[in-house]
This record gives sequence, C-alpha cells and structure tokens, in this order.
Amino acid sequence: MNKFSSCIIIIFLWGIASSNIVFANSYSLIYYTITPLFGNKAPVIKVTADIRGDIKDQLVVDLPCRWASGEYVEQLKEVTVDNFSYRIISNNELCNQLIIAISKPTDRVIINYEVHQKKGDPAEVHEAIIRADLVHSVGYGIFAIPNDALEAGEVSFSIEWKEMPSKWKTISSYGIARFFNFKAKAQELLHAIYVAGNLRIFQIADNKSPVFLSLYGSFDVKDSSIVSSLQEIVKTQRSFFNDHNFPYYAISLIEGNDPNSMVGTRLYDSFAAYLPKGMKHSDYYILFAHEHLHNWLGGKIHNNGRDSLDYWWSEGFTDYYARVLALRSGGISLEEFIDECNQILRNYYLSPVINQPNTTIKNSYWKNENVQKLPYTRGFVFAIYLNSLIKLHDDTKSIDNIILDLFKIAKQQPFSVKSFKESAKNYIFQGIEQEIARFIDQGKTIDLTAAASILPLEKIKMGPYERGFDKDKILKNKIIHNINPNSNAYKSGLRNGDKVIEFIFPKGSDPDQIATIKTINKTFKFTPESHNKKEIYQFKTNLSAEDKLKIKRFFGVNI
Ligand SMILES: [Zn+2]
Repeated sequence: MNKFSSCIIIIFLWGIASSNIVFANSYSLIYYTITPLFGNKAPVIKVTADIRGDIKDQLVVDLPCRWASGEYVEQLKEVTVDNFSYRIISNNELCNQLIIAISKPTDRVIINYEVHQKKGDPAEVHEAIIRADLVHSVGYGIFAIPNDALEAGEVSFSIEWKEMPSKWKTISSYGIARFFNFKAKAQELLHAIYVAGNLRIFQIADNKSPVFLSLYGSFDVKDSSIVSSLQEIVKTQRSFFNDHNFPYYAISLIEGNDPNSMVGTRLYDSFAAYLPKGMKHSDYYILFAHEHLHNWLGGKIHNNGRDSLDYWWSEGFTDYYARVLALRSGGISLEEFIDECNQILRNYYLSPVINQPNTTIKNSYWKNENVQKLPYTRGFVFAIYLNSLIKLHDDTKSIDNIILDLFKIAKQQPFSVKSFKESAKNYIFQGIEQEIARFIDQGKTIDLTAAASILPLEKIKMGPYERGFDKDKILKNKIIHNINPNSNAYKSGLRNGDKVIEFIFPKGSDPDQIATIKTINKTFKFTPESHNKKEIYQFKTNLSAEDKLKIKRFFGVNI
C-alpha cells in the first residue's frame, strides 16, 4: 500500500463455519495467557487458550490464519491439546483447524501453541509482530478460537500477559492492564489490538472517556507533539459529532521499516498504525485524523456490508473530513490544507482509471493500485462538488448537515446510498439521484465548474505521473534504462546507462513534486510529469485575502 493511501482495509473473515458443524458446545469463559519466551534464537510467544464451558461434541478450533494483509500460518508452531486426542486439518481457505475429539462431556479444554517471529520481521500493523522487545498483533494473529464461538453471542474472555520483563508495558483495545476480562462477541476479540513491550504510554483524554496512546520506536516528531496532535483531533472530532460516548479508546503507533509505506487500521475501540521516517507534520496529523474519524464514518455510521462499493463515502468522505476538521481546528494551516486538496485533485483528475465504474472498485480493489486509490479521491472530489451544490442553494448549510443526519439515524440504520440521497434532498432541492449515478456508479469525471464560482479554483494543464525510465532497473541495478526521449527525466539530461548513486522519488504518484537523481558526475532534478497534458482543477496557489475568505466560508472555518 502506498504512502498516503493511509487506508483502513477492514475485512472481516467471518468464521468459516461449515454446515456440518453441530452447535452443541457452549462457552462460559475463554482464558488466554500470553507468555514471551526468551532464550530462543528468534523471539517467540507461548499462548494458552483455556476453554471452559459445556463441551459435549467434537471441538473445532480455528487457528490463527490471516486477516487483511496479515498472514499468520507459518508463525504458528508446537500446537498441542492437554488430555484429549486431536488432529490438525487444513480447510478450503488453507487455514488450519484443530479437531479435538470429546469422548465424554467436559467443562475444560486447554490448547497450547507458539507464535514465532515471522521471517523478515515485518513491521506491518496487520501482522503478528513478535520481537525481543515487542509483541504487537491483532486478535486474528494470536488467538485460536472455537469455530462455533464465532456463531454464538457474547462470550467472557480473560487475557493475561505472563512473565513479562518488568519494564514492559501493555495496551489493548480492552485496557492497559496486564490482566483483563471482558464480554464480547468472538469477532470483537479478534478485531482488536494486543500490544506488550518497550512501550511509551500516554493518557490523552480525561478519566471519564480515556484515550491511551502507545508509542514504540522512534519517529520524526517528538512524542509530545504526537500527544498534542491526537488530543486536538480527538477533541475536534468528538465535538463535531457532539459524541462523547467513548468509555475507552486505544491508539498504537509503531515505527515502520518500509520508507514508502504508512498504513493505519481501525480496530475495535482502537486504531493501530505504522509510520515511516521522513514524514512531515501534516502527514502525521492527517493519518491520525483519518483513522480516528472512522469511529464514525464506517464505525458508528456503519457500512452496510457493501464494503468497497461504499468506499467513496467511507474512505473518500473520511479523507475529506480528516482535512476539513483539521483546518477548522487549526491542526493544519490553510496553506497545508490547499496543498493537500491540490494533491488529491491531481491524483483524481490524472488517475488512469478515473472513469472506471464503481463496480471496478469492488472487483479490482486488491489487484490494481490505481483502483485502490480511486474511491478516496473520487469521494473527496464528490464531497467538494456536493458541498458547492448545497452552498449555491443555501449558504448556511453544508454537507456537514448530511453527515450529522446520517449519524443521528445511525443507531437505527447503517449507511446506505438511499439514506444518503434522502438526507441530501433536504439541502439540494433537485436531489442527487443523477449525481450518484453519473459520478459514483458510472465513473464520469466530476465537473467542478459550479464549485469554481464560489471557490478560488482554476483549470490548469498537467500531465500524469511519468517516471520516464524503467523502475526495476533503478531499484535493483541503480542504472537508468529504457528512458523515454519525451520525458522530463530525459530533458534534464539523464541517459540510458547512467549509473545512479542516490535517488529521491516523490511520495505516491504526484507529478508535481521534484525527483532527484545523483550520478557520479551530476545531480539531475525534474518533475515526473508526462508531456501528454490534461486540463485539471487546482486551487490557486497565490491566494488573495478574498480567496482565503471564500475557502474558509466554503469549508466551514469560523471567521
Ligand atoms: Zn480509511
């Protein structure tokens, strides 16, 4: 996943219950203990699942397998069951299940297994990260669970971190203690974060609705700056929704090891993210704001199981409000905001898949990086478009009204395009039936002509991102190969066969940033922009006082 697609990819691998399972077992408590094992060559944790209840029938237990981009099968070793005969089978999804024979009814089955550090020690938050100084995993990565518990209601869970070094700290979606109990559905156990290690823990909201932040590793900004940014984001977003109903919230941030990647994921009452070096203040701020906004967009205003078909809303509008609310609170400056908007406008209008219908997002989200970015940018530009329709009709209203309407009814009904359209009709006289069909469903290019009458937008000509030479050759062999004579790289003087000492590419696929390539003799600088230019909308960069006022009015900043 690219930097700046700070997306949450939440996929529930709902229990893979096959139809021949008899739901005769019931569970009163599942007690997990997690013990770091030292003295091994590679870091390992031992997990014990002590399953209590009324167990009469064959017990089928799902072992950690995969979730989103995390894969756990190879990390699981030394699986044993106390006092019962058992076998391990692989099901259709190539996930392992423990089949435990229950010859006579019992109230307790104990399973033990080890989770080893993964080859290459990835620092990705979807993975089960096991290190000598860190255990960081979603529930999917470390907890074995009876398959029929996934179909049942709430179960009591206890979790205990055992024999940890005294300096270690812990945090999870359920608290910061080393031992904790909670009642939850099995999916809520799995869809949560569990962290222990050399952590720096901060409390960033009051005791009534505490938010705990855990930091691991080093970052480009000071801990105190991360704490104050998060404090401001939590406060601003809760105030926007007038929603302070959060008994507890956890955030885990870890240092990543991929300089091109910055990914966060929303989990139950929490989010986790890994951050590379080289980020600027607004990058951090917007990533946090985006993830935290999912408490409402996609969280409390729940997506209705259409997943990627609604990403224009749950990701695009999240991207929009992450920035708009940050502008309103002063978390990012007006200049940073315009810079962000212009990047997104460029990414949208220059996208090679701009006119793909919404169904392509559903079918090819995981197969094509450009398709993956599309709902974010399309939803963002659509939000500007809708806001201009509303503002032209009644300047005292905005798309805030639609979002807040949807939140009001969220307890009764999850998000649907139908309820979105119904709410919009209160603010846009003619409704938005056609807009949704054209710009979202069919993928026609969103025209901001109307918005340009109330915002300092202008049409400029720009070419899409074009590196101008072979990517693999520079990455692997540090050599310029297959250079396009029409490219800016060529015009800057680079030629095939040039040996590269150092290269700095723009983040993401923005043609407007400067690429720098150093060879033994010379430093080349150019914008990776194709000469095949398109007309696109951008905010003016030289803003007059009046322009700034227009922007503030449009995006609801107090003047
Ligand atoms: Zn997201």
